[in-house]
Amino acid sequence: MSFIKLDSVGKIYVSGELTVPAIKDISLEINEASFVSFVGPSGSGKSTLLNLLGCLDQPSKGSVSINGTLVNKLNQLERANFRGKNIGFIFQNFNLLPVLTVFENVEYPLFMVQDIPKEERKKRVLNLLEKVGMLDQKNKYPNQLSGGQKQRVAVARALVTSPKVVLADEPTANLDSVTAFQVIKVLHHMRDAFGTTFVFATHDPKIVKEAEVIYTLEDGQIKNHEIMAKESK
Ligand code: ADP
Ligand code: MG
Repeated sequence: MSFIKLDSVGKIYVSGELTVPAIKDISLEINEASFVSFVGPSGSGKSTLLNLLGCLDQPSKGSVSINGTLVNKLNQLERANFRGKNIGFIFQNFNLLPVLTVFENVEYPLFMVQDIPKEERKKRVLNLLEKVGMLDQKNKYPNQLSGGQKQRVAVARALVTSPKVVLADEPTANLDSVTAFQVIKVLHHMRDAFGTTFVFATHDPKIVKEAEVIYTLEDGQIKNHEIMAKESK
C-alpha cells in the first residue's frame, strides 16, 4: 500500500516580482518501509520536495498524503503536531544544538512531542546512541565530535520519536566515504528493524546505490523513475 502519495503537486516560490516554479507537477507514491532517493542537479527541486513531504512548507497546488492524512489540509499547528509525531529529519549540517550534550540533543525531540516519563526517555536515548555507536560519547558536546560522529547523533535524534518517515537532505554530503557508509548502514538497519520509510535527496552515489527506488528530478519535474533490483538476502 502506498504510504506517501503526491497528487499533481506544484510549488511556486514568490519573492517580490519574481516567481520560481520549483516543483511543477509531480505525482508519485512511496511504499512503507522503503528506501527512496531523489537525485538531480542543484536547483532541480529536491529540497523543495522534501520540505513538502516534511510539512515544513505548503504546496501551491495538489495534495500530499502521508499515512492516510492529507497534510496539505492541516493548519500550521496541526502540521507541527503531525511532523513531531510522524517525521524525523536529518540535515546536511547536522543541526545539533551546541549548548546541549549528545544525550540531550537526542532527548530533545521527545520533549517536543509527547509526555514521556524521564526513565522512558533515557531508555530510548541510550538505546539509539548504542545503535549508532555513540554511547561512550554521550556526555560530550557537539564541538568535541567529528563530522561523522555529529551525523550519527543527528541520525539518533531523527529516530528517537520512532517516526514513520525519515527525510534526509544530503545527509552524507559532509562526511568522508567510510563514515558515510557507516551512517547508511545504520539507516538500513533502522529500516529493517522498525519499518521506517527513508526518503533522501542526494548526489551521493553511495546512497543512490543503496536506494530501492530512484526518482531523477530535472527542472521541478520527474525525469526518470527507476526501481532497483533487490538483492536476495
Ligand atoms: P535542490 O535541492 O535540488 O538543489 P531546491 O529545491 O533547493 O533544489 O530549489 C529549486 C528551485 O527553487 C531553485 O530554482 C531555487 O533557487 C528555488 N528556491 C528554493 N527555495 C526558494 C525560496 N525559499 N525562495 C525562492 N526560490 C527558492
Ligand atoms: Mg537541496
